[in-house]
Amino acid sequence: MRKVREEMFPQQNKNGHLYWGNCDTVALAQKYGTPLYVYDENLILKECQALKDDFLDKYPNTRVAYASKAFNTIAMLQLIKDAGLSLDVVSGGELYTAIAADFPAARIEFNGNNKSVAELEMAIDYGVGRIIVDSLQEVALIQQICQQLGKKAHIMFRITPEVDVKTHAFISTGQKDSKFGIPLEPAVLYPQIEKVFQAENLEFYGFHFHVGSQLSDNAAHLAATQVALNLMLEVKKRYNYQVKELNFGGGFGVCYTKEDIRQPYRYFLDPMMELTAAFCLENDLVRPEIVIEPGRSIVAEAGITLHTIGAIKELPGLRKYVSIDGGMTDNIRPGLYHAQYTGVVANKVDEKPTQKVTISGKACESTDLLIKDLPVPDVCAGDIFATFTTGAYGYSMASNYNKLPIPAVIFTKDGQAEVVVKRQTYAQMIQNEVKR
Ligand SMILES: *Cc1c(COP(=O)(O)O)cnc(C)c1O
Repeated sequence: MRKVREEMFPQQNKNGHLYWGNCDTVALAQKYGTPLYVYDENLILKECQALKDDFLDKYPNTRVAYASKAFNTIAMLQLIKDAGLSLDVVSGGELYTAIAADFPAARIEFNGNNKSVAELEMAIDYGVGRIIVDSLQEVALIQQICQQLGKKAHIMFRITPEVDVKTHAFISTGQKDSKFGIPLEPAVLYPQIEKVFQAENLEFYGFHFHVGSQLSDNAAHLAATQVALNLMLEVKKRYNYQVKELNFGGGFGVCYTKEDIRQPYRYFLDPMMELTAAFCLENDLVRPEIVIEPGRSIVAEAGITLHTIGAIKELPGLRKYVSIDGGMTDNIRPGLYHAQYTGVVANKVDEKPTQKVTISGKACESTDLLIKDLPVPDVCAGDIFATFTTGAYGYSMASNYNKLPIPAVIFTKDGQAEVVVKRQTYAQMIQNEVKR
């Protein structure tokens, strides 16, 4: 079963205005200014519910850890906490935000291919539930810190499953030539595992993989699952040790444009869970706890970005540039990996398209083009442009390039709007700068 964007999001539209979370986006732009990230809280909760229906409630002994790098703010982490999910962090800063959101330590998993000593100390001191080891140096480091702090760490190994992924090379992570994960070579992997077995203050849980992002095909997930299962069997054979946990990562694709296919979670997870159950039965293994780490699929479609249209430049017979008051500073993905988006003129959603234009950002970079050849009605300065599916890797990748402030973030729900991140001020942008 597959769904395309239009079936999933019948566009909310009243009096010619785009509504989001039952709020008039044009009024939001007026009240809070632009650029503005707007999240429909109910759409985030709907994703959490879909994960419960398709995974948590369907299969016992499972966890979902929201990969917070997709969108890590205190309010978002509070939502995830209240929804009962776990959390994946990849830096001291993300962990700091989780602590500020009172996120329970036991439900936090710490990923990252180059965790610093300070970050590991912070994580071990807070008592995070899992540390996912991604490099050969890390085990010794964790052991040392545990000794110093008198703490225990629960360890997973992130492996490189050596599978090729049908996604953009820039967001593919599971191939052999990758900076992520520990190579599958037995001579490399097993001595590390033995080290964990031998260390008093380390407890080995199992294996982790993450094959890539924005996937609408389950082949790579399934191939990597088989790799992890084989490792689990090998650990049983070598050490007579039953692996407690496998983490299958995230990567579930979403709809950015009409061309994208959104698969339901069960399309990925049912065959992975069936494969796991069959393999465990066949090899006399206990089915371990299964964890997944979706990021993008939980927040991407819930978020839109509002911009105000300014300069319009027409090159007859060539192209018409419609410039907005943000761009790569609030959404780097088109420039970073040619990501495609779609959007509408939020105050003219009822009007028929009359032209194709290129929506361009205001940063001093030629690659700062948000959407090419988008059909729009007649537009003029002051119109509000809404880009869809900007909830993941938008705010979290925002920058101050050209000294543009980071936009505000609004949560909407049933007609109510709430500021969850205030707009950065000019003064805040230079607060750490020293005047000589
Ligand atoms: C980025 C990442 C995820 C989440 O990926 P999505 O495509 O956003 O679901 C999960 N696990 C790890 C280790 C990651 O690096």
